Amino acid sequence: MDTLRPFPTLPTTPREFGFYVDGKWQGGRPLFDRASPGHGVPVTRIPKCTTDDLNAAVTAARTAFEDRRWAGLSGAARASVLLRAAEILKRRRAEIAYWETLENGKPISQAMGEIDHSIACFEIGAGAARMLHGDSYNSLGDNLFGMVLREPIGVVGLITPWNFPFLILCERVPFILASGCTLVVKPSEVTSATTLLLAEVLEEAGLPAGVYNVVTGSGRTIGQALTEHPDVDMLSFTGSTAVGRSCVHAAADSNFKKLGLELGGKNPIIVFADADLDDAADAAAFGISFNTGQCCVSSSRLIVERSVAAKFEALVAAKMAKIRVGDPLDPNTQVGAITTTAQNDVILGYIAKGQAEGATLVTGGIVKDLGHGQYIEPTLFSGVTPNMSIATDEIFGPVLCSMPFDTIEEAIALANDTVYGLAASLWTKNIDKALTVTRRVRAGRFWVNCIMAGGPEMPLGGFKQSGWGREAGTYGVEEYTQIKSVHIETGKRDHWIA
Ligand code: NDP
Repeated sequence: MDTLRPFPTLPTTPREFGFYVDGKWQGGRPLFDRASPGHGVPVTRIPKCTTDDLNAAVTAARTAFEDRRWAGLSGAARASVLLRAAEILKRRRAEIAYWETLENGKPISQAMGEIDHSIACFEIGAGAARMLHGDSYNSLGDNLFGMVLREPIGVVGLITPWNFPFLILCERVPFILASGCTLVVKPSEVTSATTLLLAEVLEEAGLPAGVYNVVTGSGRTIGQALTEHPDVDMLSFTGSTAVGRSCVHAAADSNFKKLGLELGGKNPIIVFADADLDDAADAAAFGISFNTGQCCVSSSRLIVERSVAAKFEALVAAKMAKIRVGDPLDPNTQVGAITTTAQNDVILGYIAKGQAEGATLVTGGIVKDLGHGQYIEPTLFSGVTPNMSIATDEIFGPVLCSMPFDTIEEAIALANDTVYGLAASLWTKNIDKALTVTRRVRAGRFWVNCIMAGGPEMPLGGFKQSGWGREAGTYGVEEYTQIKSVHIETGKRDHWIA
């Protein structure tokens, strides 16, 4: 597998990309210069597409769907394209991780891990393509036989965010392709490079032209037009709850396209006094610092049993102080740069608000000055109360808020005291507490004595305002299909008209 030797430096000039429609690279549009958030220098130049470009991409995806160049293949044939893509990704791992790090600011070692996870998504997607099947009813009487067919839903629009540009893409694309659908992707304008590189990978893997199309540009123009497009059958959106809401309106006002939404989170990590506190503290520090807390499943609310709260907060603060915040291209860095200046301002604003609201800053809360880029130290607040904005709002940064509890009922109530329901982590050695809390906390992903564990076999998605539907695994493929009930008469019709 490709490795990072010699270790990369910044590109001497920004790399210019085209956009990809109907199997062809296209250019001639104005370019958007993206600067590395870790270094402050331009690294890529991305086309600002027009809505005509988007319409052409949807037409290409529609034609490719209707002529069955992809949907008409066997699951085995689709699987072999996905497996070839996985092999190409192994070869291009370091290169894709490099561009991901430059545009996003995440540590290069983490980006490499995300490419490995993406490869696994393609492998699981290949298996799912072969296993996709419907159902039959042999219980309708001797004269009637029932079949339930799963058919690809059609043309899918995919809007992805800037926090995990390649990983989130690959948690969806192999499963969309496994189902037989075609798609048009709109990545975030600030992190488009690796979505475009995936087009090269899929083309080399033998994916027919028109099946995977990428149109770049801003969310407000291209993204919005994709949500409103009358010829898109389904839209998968990952990002803010506010834009998720606008997707629902756009779907209702256009063609009632089916929606898959993965939105915000304000995820609890619940720690009982009987837990292995050292393991739990490591998980708490990791859960809020990974990807600089710009992660929809970040555990941002620490709900800890009062009898150990002070000791536990000290353990977490000590772990946080040891985290290596630094240049994303340094292989030893654990926490890199904040991806956008807007997000940097949001996080610093919440750190100021937390102090103004009366919470105690235990550690962090400061900008780390490397002489380039934007970096924030992992931050812990104690003495947080449920009504404070740092306890209710998705900060999307490395800011952990600690709240104590006395009883299991109180822990469950605090965990559920949010409009979101994306993920939760629980730490206890007591099986009764573990099962009670697991069953009563409303979250789409639940980790007991672990955090952010799992693979693309397991479905992803949220309860409440964290979204609709599930991505990845067999559940993920099924989201991109629709059900047709087929009834076959096997005997002589019992006539209605004598
Ligand atoms: P957005 O929801 O604005 O961006 C997510 C994606 O949607 C991007 O591709 C963006 O494109 C696109 N987009 C933006 N506006 C529209 C629109 N009107 N119609 C269709 N697509 C659109 O998130 P932000 O970047 O503004 O981040 C704000 C907050 O959202 C964060 O602080 C965080 O709380 C949350 N968030 C959650 C994520 C998650 O994984 N659940 C991921 C990202 C953000 P472009 O970037 O080109 O404008």
